[in-house]
Amino acid sequence: MVIAIDGPAGAGKTTVSKGVAKRLGFTYIDTGAMYRAVTHKVLKANIDLNDEETVAEAAQRMDVCLRKDRVYVDGEDVSVQIRDPDLTRSIVKVADNPGVRQHLVELARSMGRASKGAVLEGRDISSVVFPDAELKVYLDASLEERARRRYEELKEKGIEIERLKEEIAIRDEQDKNRILGPLRRDKDAFYLDTTSMRVDEVISRIVAEAKKAGA
Ligand code: C5P
Repeated sequence: MVIAIDGPAGAGKTTVSKGVAKRLGFTYIDTGAMYRAVTHKVLKANIDLNDEETVAEAAQRMDVCLRKDRVYVDGEDVSVQIRDPDLTRSIVKVADNPGVRQHLVELARSMGRASKGAVLEGRDISSVVFPDAELKVYLDASLEERARRRYEELKEKGIEIERLKEEIAIRDEQDKNRILGPLRRDKDAFYLDTTSMRVDEVISRIVAEAKKAGA
């Protein structure tokens, strides 16, 4: 069984997806971490992000691996580095790259199919990766609340909440308007506005939907 969880940055996808996977004994697959891992490796190799072909080739060659809560590229644990706000600003070029997307969509699909039950989080899970997922969820929250959540995660890095709000708004636009795999609210998706919901409430609502869908 596949549960697809899509939504904008800061809507709570990661915490909720992990919680749902834990409650159901499913594998958790963070596709955003894959785009982040590729961006990290490409930047480290000093490849020009505008050079689509070289970036795509590099993505196809590297070994991106998600294990438990950690993210590895070619055996190196990059779990911390991939959350860096500077890297986040560079992801758009990588996420817009058709060769990278094709490769990472396939990787996410094969990981999802390899497990009996999987929770995948991202932007294009319901629309592209698993359009036939047994359960599709669209997690949302107000821009203010999403910025506040990111601020709580990143405040020790000295980032201002207003700057985060602006950056999230820019990323929303980029994620919704990309040609391949844009963030869309699927008409069949179970929609949850998490702005004033507690995490455990959100998880329970999704687990209940998953049970209805046969989990
Ligand atoms: O979910 P997260 O914020 O880690 O994702 C980082 C970026 O990766 C997103 O803003 C988006 O540009 C890209 N992404 C994507 N498709 C996915 C997951 C993430 O394009 N399935």
